[in-house]
Amino acid sequence: MTTPRDRQERWEQEYLAEWAAKSALSNGRALPENPDIVRTDFQRDRDRILHSKAFRRLKHKTQVFINPIEDHYRTRLTHTLEVSQISRTIARALRLNEDLTEAIALAHDLGHPPFGHAGEEALDAAYRRYDSEAGFKHYDQSLRIVEMLEHRTGDSGPTELDAYPPGLNLTWEVRDGIAHHSKGRADLGDTHALRATTLEGNVVRIADRIAYINHDIDDALRAGILRLESLPKNFIKTLGSTHSERIATMVTDIVYHSENHPMVEMSETIALATDGLKEFLFENIYWDAARGNQEFRKAQHVIEALFSFYMKFPDMMNGTNHHLHLNSKQLSLAVCDFIAGMTDRYAVASFEKHFIPQNMRGIDIIRNVATTDEII
Ligand code: MG
Repeated sequence: MTTPRDRQERWEQEYLAEWAAKSALSNGRALPENPDIVRTDFQRDRDRILHSKAFRRLKHKTQVFINPIEDHYRTRLTHTLEVSQISRTIARALRLNEDLTEAIALAHDLGHPPFGHAGEEALDAAYRRYDSEAGFKHYDQSLRIVEMLEHRTGDSGPTELDAYPPGLNLTWEVRDGIAHHSKGRADLGDTHALRATTLEGNVVRIADRIAYINHDIDDALRAGILRLESLPKNFIKTLGSTHSERIATMVTDIVYHSENHPMVEMSETIALATDGLKEFLFENIYWDAARGNQEFRKAQHVIEALFSFYMKFPDMMNGTNHHLHLNSKQLSLAVCDFIAGMTDRYAVASFEKHFIPQNMRGIDIIRNVATTDEII
């Protein structure tokens, strides 16, 4: 009997570009599973990511503006949704695999620690102090979450939670895309940067940059740390004067420039203007300006303090003592995973719990934020 999944797989073969990733030809999962009747393997991966706890925690993780109270700032979750939307638009227009693109986009930032890049930098430094060979990168952590830290509780196979190996057992193509989404501060055309093997992974890589450049400008204007007139005029003239014009220019350019070729790239003119805006943001918002910001320093202090605290009192991580038998290297990894999984507000509440003398009200706050066993 032909299943809905069979029909979708046939549709992919007939309709998608010859260089698109086809779900039926996936390199597969680390542990083979019976295929789903309704969904392709990439659709199934997308759903596993969406239903993970790490995905839900993105709503309380910083994008750029730390722990914002005002509701209109982007969080790591809304950033992820914007990346997903832009990725899907590009993938569909280029007849690439939209489901694979969506799965990679939804998972790409799962490993971000609390407090955005301030948190990432502080966690990396704290971790290295206890293990000189280690280090923290959010994209490695995203992969670690889907391969090790999340657990499946449903699907085919055994029903006992303990019977599942750790991780979401995602397809190779999704994991490859997650591992290669990050560009750091490099320009889009940087030929030394590692690329994803699939074009779908490269769609997410470029859509991530399109999303953050544009929404971070929007949020910086909202916060009053950037004025419209101070944006570099030559790049704005090339890309458009409004948020939506700039996204449309970048997306349309990629689609027209890459159509009918096995690539996902901007034209030189638009790539130069996009890279120019990126550099402007790095200089004025992300690093150079942020370092002078006391919220940035406070966030880093919270991460450093929590790291030292849990190294000293591992039983405080989740109220059990199963970390006590770990050696120092293993313990520093467990502490790094624990802190990386925290939301901004969980990190702040943990700092208050461990470092500020508590009255009963303080204890209530941390109970309301989350239970510790939801973190790892
Ligand atoms: Mg991102």
